[in-house]
Amino acid sequence: MPALFLAHGAPPLLDDAGWLGELNALANTLPKPTSVLMLSAHWETKPIALGATQTVPLVYDFYGFPQRYYDVKYPAPGAPQLAERVLHLLEPKQPVTSEPERGLDHGAFVPLLAMYPKADVPVLQVSLPSLNASDLFELGKQLAPLRDEGVLIIGSGFITHNLRAGFGDKTPQWAQDFDGWTAKALEKHDVDALLDYRARAPGVRESLPTHEHFVPLLAAVGAAAGDRVSFPITGWWFGGFTRRSVQLG
Ligand code: ZN
Repeated sequence: MPALFLAHGAPPLLDDAGWLGELNALANTLPKPTSVLMLSAHWETKPIALGATQTVPLVYDFYGFPQRYYDVKYPAPGAPQLAERVLHLLEPKQPVTSEPERGLDHGAFVPLLAMYPKADVPVLQVSLPSLNASDLFELGKQLAPLRDEGVLIIGSGFITHNLRAGFGDKTPQWAQDFDGWTAKALEKHDVDALLDYRARAPGVRESLPTHEHFVPLLAAVGAAAGDRVSFPITGWWFGGFTRRSVQLG
């Protein structure tokens, strides 16, 4: 099973038929997963936490949007067996906690609504235990065996995510620079560069005033280091937000 990094948009992605179609088409090129392990930019907590393992309400972690986005439902089954596997893989190296009431946040459910609209694939969301690049890469490596068990590991964020300067008619140079640099580093399998992106990448400061949207990419890379890299979705949203999504394997 490949591993993915997805640009997750925001609730308005749900009105973007083109983008929804691209995500759905991507899902249709993959084997149907036994379950999805989701790492979203919108859940950071340490030690690492496992979300709900049964169907619970979504987390509507966005503010000031039209009511219809708060009426969205995505009652995917929980994935208790996957949670046990994750515990087994991670616990020897780090403490793991559970948050049984924690539902999927919008970084998780927005792309899943497009990919598996019947909500028939069990999903486990796992928190980001750190924003450190190497930590996330290591986490991905520890989770990698799940791919052989049919688990689709998804990191969900944005490669460029500047909520103050990212909106405009044109794509800013800093966004093009950073997106392009990241794509090249991925294609070259240059893990050292990717892990050192804060120091090396052009446009990084403007592209990522904060880092939570980028680092889920490094978990996906860790889960599939060395595997073939492709970009099933590219282009720009609202000017400065790259839609680049990454398939590894
Ligand atoms: Zn987000």
